[in-house]
Amino acid sequence: MGIFDDVVVNAKSAAEAVGRKAGQLVDVSKLRIGAAEVNAEITKRYEALGQYVYENCRSSLVADPEAFGKITEIDELKAQAAAIAKELNDKQNKLACPSCGKQCSNTDTFCSCCGAKLVVEEAAAEPQPEAPENHEEPPQE
Ligand SMILES: [Zn+2]
Repeated sequence: MGIFDDVVVNAKSAAEAVGRKAGQLVDVSKLRIGAAEVNAEITKRYEALGQYVYENCRSSLVADPEAFGKITEIDELKAQAAAIAKELNDKQNKLACPSCGKQCSNTDTFCSCCGAKLVVEEAAAEPQPEAPENHEEPPQE
C-alpha cells in the first residue's frame, strides 16, 4: 500500500499546488491591474501638472531651454489645431462663436446659442509672427 499512499499524497499535493498556482495567478493579475490603474493615474496627474505648468508657469520657465522648448512645441501644436479647425469650419461654411464656441453658420450675424456677435474674419487677417532667423551674412569684401 506504500505506493498507493504515495500516489494519493502526490495527487493531493499536486492538487494543492494547482490551487496555490491558481491563487497566485489571481493575485498576480490583481496586482497587474492595480499597477496599471495606479500608473494610469500617475499619467493623468503628469498631464494635469503639465497643463498647469503650461498655463501658469510660462514666464518662470523662459530661462529653462528644455522646459520652454516643450511649451513652444505645445504652442505650435495649438496653432496647428486652430488652423485645422478653421479650415474645417471654412469647408463646412461654419464659424465658431468667439464667446461660447458653438458652431454657427457663417451667414449668421449673431450666435444662435449665446447671442454674441459673430466676427466674420476678412481674408487672412491672422498675424503671422515671423521669427527673425539668423541669416548668414555674406562675407563683405
Ligand atoms: Zn455663442
